[in-house]
Amino acid sequence: MDIHEYQAKEMLKRFGVSTPRGGIAYSPEQAVYRCSELSGDKWVVKAQIHSGARGKAGGVRICATEEEVADAAQWMLGRRLVTHQTGPQGKLVNRLYIEEATSIAQEIYLGFVMDRKLERVVVVASAQGGMEIEEISANEPDSLIRSVVDPAVGMQNFQAREIAFQLGLDPTLIPAAVKTIIGCYRLMSETDANMVEINPLVVTKSNEIVALDAKLAFDDNALFRHPDISELRDKSQEDPRETYAGDRGLNYIGLDGKIGCIVNGAGLAMATLDMIKMAGGEPANFLDVGGGASPERVLMSFKAVLNDRNVEGILVNIFAGINRCDWIAEGVIRAVKELDLQMPLVVRLSGTNVEEGRKLLADSGLNITTASSLAEAAEKVVGEWKAAQMKEAS
Ligand code: GDP
Ligand code: MN
Repeated sequence: MDIHEYQAKEMLKRFGVSTPRGGIAYSPEQAVYRCSELSGDKWVVKAQIHSGARGKAGGVRICATEEEVADAAQWMLGRRLVTHQTGPQGKLVNRLYIEEATSIAQEIYLGFVMDRKLERVVVVASAQGGMEIEEISANEPDSLIRSVVDPAVGMQNFQAREIAFQLGLDPTLIPAAVKTIIGCYRLMSETDANMVEINPLVVTKSNEIVALDAKLAFDDNALFRHPDISELRDKSQEDPRETYAGDRGLNYIGLDGKIGCIVNGAGLAMATLDMIKMAGGEPANFLDVGGGASPERVLMSFKAVLNDRNVEGILVNIFAGINRCDWIAEGVIRAVKELDLQMPLVVRLSGTNVEEGRKLLADSGLNITTASSLAEAAEKVVGEWKAAQMKEAS
């Protein structure tokens, strides 16, 4: 789960990391009021969306007058901001963060990620911050500092100092840099975050170290331990298809294709996506219905898949161990009837009660194609989908 920049900064502050003073605003009037509260003569208006690269998209504006602040706020609020991380549909801006502007002497990149291969937290830092880490590693791979944290002891002072020195920071800044690095690491481990990214971490003209931007992502499976963080969830920033499915307890991930998938087991679901691609189609989603899926759960899965308006064909692939093919078939039949399904539907059943399941489908009199292997099912659904496309075109 992601949270907004201002929420991330609030948390960082609690762990001893310096951030600029700021306040939240939901309207241009509130934005201007925040400026008077902050005083000073320069402010930054920042769109709060779950995405980086807002600057290039117009979502970060430095303003020198209250009129400019009001104009920037007016422009951003209610807009779907499109960055290269949001996809073409963009993300809705419904709140702003107004900050006192900072005079920047140097921009640094500081990131903490989980390295799955090493099973360790890895710190990535670069003295050339400000831009995307992908750009930095492509253009100046040697400028990247990497440091692996031993989970048995956590981030140590000497290790943080080493990173600070490698960044080439002035010796007077080392204590503040160490405090920042240790603070980020403690936040990461104590809150079960799986990413902490400060880009840029800046050295100000008055020689201070300040986190100018902040991005935090948390491990969904650990959120039950952090009710205060769970409350920060902002559904307006999520893929609505995933919110819909997630609220119904389904394990669903939205993709860009046309073929909806209902599968049991995460591994089989991944294999199904591959087979659809190999057959020349594009999957619209990953969906694992889980073991022991009742007819109601199958019906619910159909609703979640069809909630994506791009779906033009559906593949149901069940290898029943704990599941029962007759229950699945019952759910499929209910879905076709209740949802008045008109698009190509291919069902592959295998395993427990497969004969009963196949008989139910055959006796239903509904337009359902069956297949006995996964490869056959993938080819059939893509074939039928293409045929339907041709028919529509002619
Ligand atoms: P992002 O584009 O979503 O990563 O948003 P950031 O918060 O990182 O802001 C983008 C860029 O705007 C930063 O890299 C800075 O160069 C600039 N910026 C943001 N806040 C300030 C500020 O207070 N003062 C100055 N001079 N530049 C700022
Ligand atoms: Mn940034």
